[in-house]
Amino acid sequence: MNAADCIFCKIARGEIPCEKLYEDDDLLAFEDANPAAPVHFLVIPREHIETLDDVEERHKTMLGKMMLVATKIARDKGIGATGYRQVINCRKSGGQVVFHLHLHIMGGRDMRQMG
Ligand code: 5GP
Ligand code: ZN
Repeated sequence: MNAADCIFCKIARGEIPCEKLYEDDDLLAFEDANPAAPVHFLVIPREHIETLDDVEERHKTMLGKMMLVATKIARDKGIGATGYRQVINCRKSGGQVVFHLHLHIMGGRDMRQMG
């Protein structure tokens, strides 16, 4: 999958609509189209990085920023105190479906019911 055909690159370029929560030069956060919890949004880098297995040393700052942006939005959505999950699925065995790195934030219910 290259950046031209990638669904999340298309979202980042504004070619596919999304419910945007945050954006800057490096990152984009938007609501998951098929939520698995009352709160379920994604944080993605603008750069087309296929999987967590493809990250490099130069991505270190961006990875930390992804978690911090996610944490701030979670707090704004009122789930900071009750808690939530931040998850990155990596490749086939990790359950990855979209091959553009993304961080899931899921909460608003008891997430201990999930595996
Ligand atoms: P994965 O299994 O790859 O970690 O998760 C991919 C996530 O992307 C799923 O939760 C799915 O609902 C979400 N998703 C897939 N296509 C789209 C889309 O076009 N728009 C949005 N907002 N979310 C999507
Ligand atoms: Zn992409």
